[in-house]
Amino acid sequence: MRPLDPRLLRYAVSARWFLVSGAALGIATTGCILAFAWLITTCVTRAIEGSTLAELLPYLGSLAGVALLRAGLVYTQDLVAARGAAKVKSELRLRVLDAVHSMGPGFLAEHNSARVAILLGRGMDALDDYFSKYVPQLILTVIVTPIIVLSVLLSDWVSAVFILVTLPLIPIFMILIGWATQAVQRKQWTVLGDLSSGFVDTLGGLATLKIFGREHRQVKRMRSITTAYRLQTMKVLRMSFLSSFALELAASLSVALVAVSIGLRLVDGSLALTVGLFVLLLAPEAFLPLRQVGANFHAAAEGVAAAEDAFALLDSARTATRKDTADSGPVAPSSGVLSLEDVAVDYGSGPVAHPVTAEFLPGTVTVVAGPSGSGKSSLLGAILGFLAFSGTVRLGGQALDSTASERGWLAWTGQRPSLSVGTVAENVALGATDVNFGLVRRALDLAAAQDIDETTAVGVAGSGLSGGQAQRVAIARAIYRTLERGCSVLLLDEPTSALDHDTEARLLDGLVSVAASGVAVVLVSHRAAVLERADAVLTVSAREAVAA
Ligand code: ADP
Ligand code: MG
Repeated sequence: MRPLDPRLLRYAVSARWFLVSGAALGIATTGCILAFAWLITTCVTRAIEGSTLAELLPYLGSLAGVALLRAGLVYTQDLVAARGAAKVKSELRLRVLDAVHSMGPGFLAEHNSARVAILLGRGMDALDDYFSKYVPQLILTVIVTPIIVLSVLLSDWVSAVFILVTLPLIPIFMILIGWATQAVQRKQWTVLGDLSSGFVDTLGGLATLKIFGREHRQVKRMRSITTAYRLQTMKVLRMSFLSSFALELAASLSVALVAVSIGLRLVDGSLALTVGLFVLLLAPEAFLPLRQVGANFHAAAEGVAAAEDAFALLDSARTATRKDTADSGPVAPSSGVLSLEDVAVDYGSGPVAHPVTAEFLPGTVTVVAGPSGSGKSSLLGAILGFLAFSGTVRLGGQALDSTASERGWLAWTGQRPSLSVGTVAENVALGATDVNFGLVRRALDLAAAQDIDETTAVGVAGSGLSGGQAQRVAIARAIYRTLERGCSVLLLDEPTSALDHDTEARLLDGLVSVAASGVAVVLVSHRAAVLERADAVLTVSAREAVAA
C-alpha cells in the first residue's frame, strides 16, 4: 500500500481542498504544540525560581487559551476530515456508478454483480477511515514532525540526534508490517466478495434448492465461506494489534532514551532546566503523529483494497469509452432505418451466430426467428449496446459502433419482465416524476393488458401479477417509452412466450398499430401466430448449425 495513492486524488477532485485545509490546520496545530511546551516550561521554571502566583497568572491564562485553541483545532480537523471523506466517497461512488452505467448490462453479466454492489456499498464506506483518519494524520506527520524536530535541534542537539536516529524506526516497522498486512487485507476483501456472492446465489436459488430437497447442502457451503471470512478477519486483527504494539513500543523506548539523556545531563548540570523540560515536552509530540499514522494504517487498508477495485473498474470503463468514441460518428442520429451489416456477438469463444445483415424499416413488424440458443437475444444485445460486437449497426445510415452511447431512439423489453416495486403505472412510466396516466392506459391497452388496473401494486420481482400479466406490463413500459419519446425502434424479446392465443393475437394487433405510426417493431419469436403477422422475417442461425 502506497502512503498516498495519487489516483485517489485524481479521481476524487474534492480531496484537494481537503488536503489544503488539512495542511493549514497542521501548521496551526504545530504552533499550538510549541506554544504549549514553551508556556509550561516557563511556568515551571519561574515557579521554581520563586515567582508568585500573580506573576505567573498571565502565563497560566495563555496556557489555558492555547489548550482550548488546540482542542478547537482537533475538532475542526475531525470536522473537515469527516466532510472531506463523505465528499470523496460520494464522488468516487458516483464515478464508479457512471462507469458501470457506461459499460452497460453486458459488463454486469460478465462480472459478479454482488461484488460490484459490495464495492459500491461497504467498499466505498471503508474509505471513510482512509480519508477521515489516515490521510489527515499523514498530513500532520509531514508538517508537525519536521518542525518539532527542528525546534528540538535548535534547543538541544543531543536530544535531536536521539530523535532523528530512533524516528525512522517507526516508518521502517510500518513498511515491514504493511507488506505483511497487504496480502492479508487483500485476501479478506476477496473473501468478503465470495461471501456476498455466495449468499446472493443461495438466496436467489433457494426456491429451486428447496423443491429438489438440496437446501441443506448450502448450509455447509455457507458455513465454510463464513468460517473463511472469520479466520481472515482474525488474521487482520492480529496483524493490526501486533503492529500497534510494535509502534507504541518503538515510540516509548525512543522517548525514554531522550528522557534518560536529559535527566543525566540535568544532574551533572550540563543542561539548563528550561531547555531540558522544553525538549522533554516536545519529544513525544514528534512521535505522536507518526504513531497514529501507523495505527490508522490498518483501519485504512480495507478502503484501499476496495479503492483498487474501484480504480480497476474505472480504468476498464475509460478504455472501453475511448475505443468507442474513436469509432463513433460526430452526431448521434435519432431516427431513420436501423440496419445491420455482418453483426455478430462474441462472448469470447468465437461469434455465437452466423453474422447478420438486415434492415428494419419504419412502419413494419420484423420477426427475428431461430431455434433456442441460436443467438437472437445476443443480437438484440448488440443493437442495444449491451454487448460488444463485430460488424456495423447503423441508424439513418450512420454507424453506431459505440456500445457506450445512449440509445434514446429505441425502446426494449427483455425476456424477463424485470419489474420493480410500486404500482403498475409506476412500472409502465419507469419512475418518471410526472406520469402521463392517459398514456399509461394507452400503452397498457396496446400491450393487451386491458384487464390490468394501473393502480395494482407490484411486489418484489413482479409478485402480485401472473407471469403473463408481468410480461404485458413490461411490454407496456416499452410502448409507453416509444410513444412518449417518439422512439423509432421497438425491440421485444419473446413478448408472447407467457400468453395464451387470444391475448397473443390482441398484443399483435397492438404492436401492428404501433408499427403503423412509423415505428420499426422488431420481435424475437418462433411462434406461428407471430410469424404470420410479420412484414419480414429474419432467421438467425447458430454458428455450429451453419458449420454442420
Ligand atoms: P437465443 O436468444 O436465441 O435463445 P442467446 O442469444 O440467448 O440465444 O444465446 C446464444 C448463445 O450464446 C447460446 O449458446 C448461449 O449459451 C450463449 N450465451 C448467451 N449469453 C452468454 C453470456 N453472457 N456468456 C457466454 N455465452 C452466452
Ligand atoms: Mg433469447
